[in-house]
Amino acid sequence: MDEGVRRRYLKAMGVELWERRPPPGMAAQRPPDPPAALDEGVPPLPATTDLAPAADSPSPLDGPGPAGPDAALDWEGLRRAVRECRACGLRAGCRQTVFGVGDPQADLLVIGEAPGADEDRQGEPFVGRAGQLLNAMLLAMGLRREQVFIANVVKCRPPNNRDPQAGETTQCEPFLRRQIELIEPRVILSVGRVSAHSLLKTEVALGRLRGQVHRLGEPGIPLVVTYHPAYLLRSPEQKGRAWDDLQLALSLLQNPA
Ligand code: SF4
Repeated sequence: MDEGVRRRYLKAMGVELWERRPPPGMAAQRPPDPPAALDEGVPPLPATTDLAPAADSPSPLDGPGPAGPDAALDWEGLRRAVRECRACGLRAGCRQTVFGVGDPQADLLVIGEAPGADEDRQGEPFVGRAGQLLNAMLLAMGLRREQVFIANVVKCRPPNNRDPQAGETTQCEPFLRRQIELIEPRVILSVGRVSAHSLLKTEVALGRLRGQVHRLGEPGIPLVVTYHPAYLLRSPEQKGRAWDDLQLALSLLQNPA
């Protein structure tokens, strides 16, 4: 991507572009056009060898998973099944189900954890400030929101925005699995700890799941883990690392393995 364009998108994402200052008295030695670093101390984009699939990344698509009535549903049937679902206790406490939004044939599928208050109100994932930051992150990749599909691990808002419980994610998993089957994304971007843990069936810290390519299910869809935009709003110093993750996902979109 052109450097100027990249910088514009990064600015939209809120990533500060840092340029190394010369030590005192060394101004004359400062290179005229230093390479931009997103954040001092941020590790560089993983080397090509790091792009190898994680050796043992089990996924919900590997095993039989929970049986659901949606195994052969088409897109509209699936949407209806989600709307009418009462399979777990979350539906009783939310206004509406949040199916997902975007292009059902997108190359990139973004998966978060669960609807929050704004999402519950609007029936759309990733709205509000976190949604705006996600939009900026996508723009930084050269993608508009409507060019990707955005979904959550669970389709109903947990009370008080708590994390969805294991039983709830298990119950809701067939819907997400069918969404993945129908979309057939080339790359999945898993945002946030709950999403990564649910998709990869692991308790490994999110920081250790970043920077590598996981493979989801039998088709082996490349999956990249990054921070949730809501976390990035609280910890903007991590945006540089998130940008590394986005570049990794972008490289997979541009150069499918
Ligand atoms: Fe159904 Fe999922 Fe909502 Fe639970 S969270 S009621 S499984 S749609």
